[in-house]
Amino acid sequence: MPLIALCAGDGIGPEVTEEAVKILKLIDGKRNFGFEFVDAPVGGSAYDRFGVPLPPESLEIAKKADAIFLGAVGGPKWEKLEFSLRPERALLALRSELGLFANLRPAALFGPLVDASTLKREVVEGIDILVVRELTGGIYFGQPRGVEDYEGGKRGVNTLVYTTPEIERIARVAFEAARKRKGKVCSVDKANVLESTELWREVVTGVHKDYGDVELSHMYVDNAAMQLIRNPRQFDVIVTTNMFGDILSDAAAMLTGSIGMLPSASLSGTKGMYEPVHGSAPDIAGQGIANPIAAILSAAMMLTYSFNAPDAAMDIEKSVAAVLDKGYRCADIYTDGTTKLSTSEMGGMVAKELE
Ligand code: NAD
Repeated sequence: MPLIALCAGDGIGPEVTEEAVKILKLIDGKRNFGFEFVDAPVGGSAYDRFGVPLPPESLEIAKKADAIFLGAVGGPKWEKLEFSLRPERALLALRSELGLFANLRPAALFGPLVDASTLKREVVEGIDILVVRELTGGIYFGQPRGVEDYEGGKRGVNTLVYTTPEIERIARVAFEAARKRKGKVCSVDKANVLESTELWREVVTGVHKDYGDVELSHMYVDNAAMQLIRNPRQFDVIVTTNMFGDILSDAAAMLTGSIGMLPSASLSGTKGMYEPVHGSAPDIAGQGIANPIAAILSAAMMLTYSFNAPDAAMDIEKSVAAVLDKGYRCADIYTDGTTKLSTSEMGGMVAKELE
């Protein structure tokens, strides 16, 4: 039986996780995946109970699981804790312990929300981008790093380093994803200035030989930042390094409006962790007003990438689109003339549409 670890976490994490699970159970009822759900406490609430943000038992469950669903972690209550005990450490530890090297962040605009974007309708209408970000290498992890004494002052050092296997595996994730979409990959680098990304371009080009059916282009990161704002519809899959992906995925996401709508997946070769892009939103936690759509769409990504059921994922996405089309909104995307729903009402409405 496929095992799904539920790391609901803190703040609105448990609230939105509940709605995602509601949808997964409904899909399971129709398609008989036989999902088994096991709670794996993480974050500040795990610290309160067990004294650490990622208890060994939770890590064990995550390692055994076929897929992990994470709500969100963090909050002001735990901000003064020593760095190693902070809730966010659970996330970083899960990523590294599970070898989740590929972060997938779609930025698709639902038609009815076109006016929630800060860009003009004619620029953003119909965008559907997937940013594939390398997650465990590059300048965020390279050695040497640190701040040291230097010629009477100080010197800060970070190192941008990539190896051929690291680039190959992320390129494959991007090409495979493109095959399930519009078949286009744009690899983003700074090969005109940085040798490590000159290697990036060379390796991505080499891997492309195995994917003749996918179209590959290359773009410098400064141009990519500009093109995302100027003409985002030109992109299908963007594959890039850890730091460039960190920045470009936020820019791409914001083309679509609210953070409460954005799902993500982090993949290793064999396992996936799925989570909404947003945090624990302490300002609205406990009020039942968080938008669960990011969590529900993360569950849809789980069906595509961990359970090879893109058709089931599409059913969920279509249900979300239909609910929005009928004018239902949570507070974060509410506008005059639409109907405001609570977290559980929105989850229930998507479920009803699915049925
Ligand atoms: P946040 O994403 O939690 O909230 C930013 C703003 O967006 C807030 O005004 C919040 O109310 C709103 N928002 C977020 N999700 C929403 C939703 N689903 N529906 C409606 N509104 C929503 O970011 P933050 O305030 O910078 O961080 C809060 C805490 O979350 C911090 O402790 C931070 O470290 C943590 N965090 C965790 C993750 C994660 O678990 N992956 C990611 C980012 C931040």
